[in-house]
Amino acid sequence: MLSRSLLSLFSLSLLGLPACAATPDAKQALAAQNRGANPVATPPRNARASLSQQERFNLWKSEFIARSVRMGYDRSMVERLILPAKIEERALERDKTQPEFSKPVWSYVDNAANASRLNGGRTKLAENGEVFDAIEARYKVPRHILTSIWGLETAYGKIMGTYNPVDALATFAFEGRRTSFGEAQLYALLDLLKSGAVRQDQLIGSWAGAMGMTQFIPATFRDYAVDFDGDGNKDLWENEADALGSAAHYLSRHGWRWGEPVMTEVAVDAEFDYSLLEGSKKTVNQWTALGVRPVGGQRWSAEAGFLDAKLIAPGGHRGPKLLTFKNFDVIKKYNNSTSYAMGITVLGEALRGKSVITTDWPRNDKPLSFDDKKSMQRKLNQLGFNVGGVDGIIGPGTRKGIRAWQKSRGLPADGYIEQDLFKRLMAQ
Ligand code: CA
Repeated sequence: MLSRSLLSLFSLSLLGLPACAATPDAKQALAAQNRGANPVATPPRNARASLSQQERFNLWKSEFIARSVRMGYDRSMVERLILPAKIEERALERDKTQPEFSKPVWSYVDNAANASRLNGGRTKLAENGEVFDAIEARYKVPRHILTSIWGLETAYGKIMGTYNPVDALATFAFEGRRTSFGEAQLYALLDLLKSGAVRQDQLIGSWAGAMGMTQFIPATFRDYAVDFDGDGNKDLWENEADALGSAAHYLSRHGWRWGEPVMTEVAVDAEFDYSLLEGSKKTVNQWTALGVRPVGGQRWSAEAGFLDAKLIAPGGHRGPKLLTFKNFDVIKKYNNSTSYAMGITVLGEALRGKSVITTDWPRNDKPLSFDDKKSMQRKLNQLGFNVGGVDGIIGPGTRKGIRAWQKSRGLPADGYIEQDLFKRLMAQ
């Protein structure tokens, strides 16, 4: 799961790779560690710095094994899991492949619901009717959303990764900025193995440690995976009932509300105040009073009026405007990305023959490069629209600053910026 959250794992600090040999003391200590000697023999910090990366990794392994055994895990189980681990270079790579242009949101959403994923999903829905009946009855999460997650995470089980997840997790745990994450995930794997719910030979995943048809990282697997078909094994790799039941269990536990909408497209009055975007939630009735209405001349049902919703317009005021509900937030618990939650909703609704977004995106807009984004942030700060740090990432804080600048210039305050508006800002 949570491939999006794992993307941020790229931003690990680059390790220096000193070619110098280890000091004799450090080598002796390492050899002692590898013989299973008492971890008291850990070399001091300065000695450790002179070890090679592989030597430091081996040292980390023996320390992790010792810690795990002290915590009560069976030594042979821990050793079987940890000793074969290899350094996963990608887990050590710094975020040096910063994309020049990040993809616009519509490219992500279009791809999520492309023809092959839609056709694949229809087939899977037809093939798994009984399983979905049982899952919906138990967890009250609809099949089209589960199918959509299945399709986006692994193309319905076709792309689940071929890696040993222990490599990346051990590498994270070993050094860098993700040590506590990596270590917690390794303990989760140990818990899983100890429970007997999975076998070590089943542990295959993405290079970054997510496993199975719904890409659960180990802690999610341990805490939310279910043996839906009741055969004694939580098989998220080969068994649709287990994988889909586990995803349903996860969404249910995070507050999915059966029968409520996820995301609805709306139209707004010409004089609508776009600075309300991304703000606090309001009931649909409150939004109606502010000039927000369903697209296509439809009306809200009486009960919909009392639902809380947030208004977003990821493509600016010329693109689709969307009210997002509690269920949208629940999807973001799966993967904390607005684009992801939109993609899941658009594909899911398409799978039941509904089109969520009817307004076209401003597809001809030219996106800002990473450097443009930094220039923009610097400029906004200079002009007194405080956006905080200059990091080239347009988050809620930067959009708030853009909206404030737009409002001060009498422009629609949608927090959205492309090359034309960027040039106008930079000319100020
Ligand atoms: Ca099972």
